[in-house]
Amino acid sequence: MSKRTSDQNLILRPFLPVMNTTTPTGLHHLTAIASDPQQNVDFYTGLLGLRLVKKTVNFDDPSAYHLYYGDETGTPGSIVTFFYWPGLDARGRVGAGQNTAIVFSAPSGSLAFWQEHLRRHHVSAELRTRFGETVLAFADPDGIPVELVEVSDDARTGWQAHARIPAGHALRGLHTAELTVRSPHATEKLLTATMGYRLVKREGNRARFEAASGGGSGHYIDVIADAVLAPGLGGAGTIHHIAWSVPDDATQLAMQIRLQAAGYSVSDVRDRQYFHSIYYREPGGILFEIATATPGFPVDEPVGSLGTALKLPVQFERARSEIERLLPPIKVTQ
Ligand code: ZN
Repeated sequence: MSKRTSDQNLILRPFLPVMNTTTPTGLHHLTAIASDPQQNVDFYTGLLGLRLVKKTVNFDDPSAYHLYYGDETGTPGSIVTFFYWPGLDARGRVGAGQNTAIVFSAPSGSLAFWQEHLRRHHVSAELRTRFGETVLAFADPDGIPVELVEVSDDARTGWQAHARIPAGHALRGLHTAELTVRSPHATEKLLTATMGYRLVKREGNRARFEAASGGGSGHYIDVIADAVLAPGLGGAGTIHHIAWSVPDDATQLAMQIRLQAAGYSVSDVRDRQYFHSIYYREPGGILFEIATATPGFPVDEPVGSLGTALKLPVQFERARSEIERLLPPIKVTQ
């Protein structure tokens, strides 16, 4: 990452204290790379019971699918997304300098259901305990670690209308995320000094932080220190970036200024149709995004039919037939 030390930043620094009202409220989404879109849809909708809430393309490269999964409306904190590039077979490697797991919140008492459900679909899983929580750990078809954590105080309901997952067992959204870095100090400092997070627990080489506004599940982030883990390699089977949620454009602008004042090189605001985004790289090498909670996924199709049609931003509509010709069709059963 590049550090900025301009006079302007030095002048701004004393006037930008971290305030709870102008920092991220929690997780917005994780974005990963898939090797096969149909396999990806079958796993995250068919098996895990998430809703495909948007079928679109990578706005920086419309030759790639961008598939969004979440709860009924794709509430920030419930969303995982995947890129798929036709013909690109390069596989990545999960390692240091990456998000290293997709961690969902599951209702108390539901892991017995999920264990049996995964077993019936030939997905091997193992139970673990972490921070006193019960964790069911397995991998998605591309090898990305996925975990379901039993949480007793998460008021979110997840998607309640899946054909085969009982509503009472529905995954509610992201519980936490994992930033695995070789040296955690600078990453932790960014979280606490600039992004408003506070340390809540440490266990072994894992530290858990919570957003300034609190909130529990969906508002955590775990930093794992692993000095000997090989660096991750981007590609299919890895998580590409993590996005933090802010309520509005004004909060995003305040974060952009604060990050620049702290020496980070931050992108300008990008219009992602369903949210607005800025990007920067944290000291451990992981790409961070700050995304607004608005306008949301129903902005270009009704809630009842989210995810059913290929949606393109206006700049790509003229190329729709070419884009549709290159992307393989996917069938969604949910
Ligand atoms: Zn993103």
